[in-house]
Amino acid sequence: MGLLEFTDRGIYCPQANVYLDPWKPVEKALITHGHSDHARFGHKHYLCVESSVPIIRHRLQLSDESIQSVKYGDAISINGVDFSFHPAGHIPGSAQIRVSYKGEVWVFTGDYKLEHDNISEPFELVRCHSLITESTFGLPVYNWKPQGEIFNDINSWWRKNQSDGKVSILTGYTLGKSQRILKNVDASVGKIFVHGAVEVMTKILQAQGISLPDFERVTPEHKKNHFEGALIVCPPSATGSLWMRKFFPYSIGIASGWMSLRGARRRRGADRGFALSDHVDWKDLNRAVKETGAERVFVTHGYSEVFSHWLRDQGIEAHVVKTAYEGELSEIAEGTEKQEVLEENNKEQQS
Ligand SMILES: [Zn+2]
Ligand SMILES: [Zn+2]
Repeated sequence: MGLLEFTDRGIYCPQANVYLDPWKPVEKALITHGHSDHARFGHKHYLCVESSVPIIRHRLQLSDESIQSVKYGDAISINGVDFSFHPAGHIPGSAQIRVSYKGEVWVFTGDYKLEHDNISEPFELVRCHSLITESTFGLPVYNWKPQGEIFNDINSWWRKNQSDGKVSILTGYTLGKSQRILKNVDASVGKIFVHGAVEVMTKILQAQGISLPDFERVTPEHKKNHFEGALIVCPPSATGSLWMRKFFPYSIGIASGWMSLRGARRRRGADRGFALSDHVDWKDLNRAVKETGAERVFVTHGYSEVFSHWLRDQGIEAHVVKTAYEGELSEIAEGTEKQEVLEENNKEQQS
């Protein structure tokens, strides 16, 4: 019996009888963060870090009794197994889960990045014997520019659109990316508006003390002239909808790690792509694996075959594991987000 095992319900700890980010309903689930491929419906009890409770509770409509929380770094013992949550730097409230029993330590990263984004609790390196890591961008072609440079590009694009008489529409998924954009963009350039689905997530995070520049939600009452020179932050799925008609003429930008791929921007009908990702790139993935000191690595979603092969070439025992995590697929259009966008569009059409 291993300390952690890979089952068709999720990552399982038999000694404690709990699952980590399970994708099928279980009795007790430990959840790394609020994205819908990790925090799923239908479990009896949820345990997560304090700062992700409001989002998870909102998205899954959980009662007070069904969700329990713990502070980053505090261990909780279940049948002799110690579990603790450590910042993953992916989105606000995201965590890696450390599991320790009789001197054996495992870490499950969930989704993570090493670069500080000014909004998520900064990534903390946790040493372990066995590491379960994502590999969403586990290829050498993925090599992110520092965040400051990407935001310089975004700000210049916004100013250029302004002088061309265009509205700037920047897409990012609703939980994490949108708030990262709001936090880091140069708010002195012009007014900022958000889609209703972005506003919902943002308000929840602001209520937890995350400070952001002023923005307004786009409402049916807004007339076209309200948006002159403005930046609109919305989910990717909003760009094909009627919701867009008020902003014309506009330029569409997409903020996603996939934008470093040639053709990805054009396929999505955008004018500009900004390779801003909330996942580790190739060099940080390798750095993280090395610095944890792990002797054994299990690679989940992403380029798991390629990356584990590469690790084996480096002399590290590595295995591919099948999970139901979606990587940045969820960044383009995750299930919950699709629903939220749909609801917003319906409201818009009824008004
Ligand atoms: Zn995620
Ligand atoms: Zn994920």
